[in-house]
Amino acid sequence: MSLDQFQFLVPGLRDVVEILVVAYLIYRALLFLAGTRALQILIGLVILGVVYFLALLLKFTMIATLLGVLFTYGAFAAIVVFQPELRHALARLGRTRAFNLLVYSTSQSTAEEVARAAERLARSGTGAIIAIEGEVALDDYVETGTRMRATVSSELLSTIFTPYSPLHDGAVIVRGEEIIGAGCVLPLTQFPVTDKALGTRHRAALGLSEESDAVVIVVSEETSRISLAQGGLLKQGVTPEQVRETLTASRRSAALAFRGSTGEPSAA
Ligand code: ATP
Ligand code: MG
Repeated sequence: MSLDQFQFLVPGLRDVVEILVVAYLIYRALLFLAGTRALQILIGLVILGVVYFLALLLKFTMIATLLGVLFTYGAFAAIVVFQPELRHALARLGRTRAFNLLVYSTSQSTAEEVARAAERLARSGTGAIIAIEGEVALDDYVETGTRMRATVSSELLSTIFTPYSPLHDGAVIVRGEEIIGAGCVLPLTQFPVTDKALGTRHRAALGLSEESDAVVIVVSEETSRISLAQGGLLKQGVTPEQVRETLTASRRSAALAFRGSTGEPSAA
């Protein structure tokens, strides 16, 4: 028996490259899932899979058949049950540079004007919600409100949110140095919010920050406090100065080329 018979076992360069690529993809997928509900479910599925193969091996046909049926229909059920997670994951995938060539960076003046508007609105106790677009385009949300093109200014922002103004209800969306939408409806967070002081406005800010890399600034009508939602985290009671810093920082990170393949929003 010559070694030539096992020639197919000798890895070629192509195999090595392929193994490395697959290993990297699995690594990224696990990173992607780490800490989410999906990881626990994945572990559950792996255990079920092991049980299934054990049942097959030991010829426990009833268990194997039942699990087989479960897997077949379970796949469809999973799509329905995990629709929010799937949508979230796809949105994160869409954040990669390759998919999103048009990036508008938050300019210094936008950061300045938004911070001043937040201060002014908080002083007058006017409720407001302002979303600053990151790399993920927010056009879908602009469609829910009134599309506009106006240079960002603290005066204009304050005017829009003045009670009884036709556009005060809903969110303003800012891209680069322009307000591109007002009166827009943002998605509410998928997760339960225990704090009773956080109503729909704050939930909408959190929701958008979960689905995109936008920075969302909220001024509470009830408490006059400024909050900042970013990457699914809400920071309450921030100062106008912190608003400006966060927006300037997000501009800097957006300006830097993406190092990883996904654009993880930096936790606030
Ligand atoms: P506040 O502290 O200002 O009272 P809140 O978090 O308690 O805020 P609500 O009192 O429910 O929230 O605020 C209602 C306002 O929030 C609405 O009038 C509307 O302008 C805005 N809002 C509510 N839901 C959304 C949404 N999905 N997208 C954008 N804006 C929203
Ligand atoms: Mg309220």
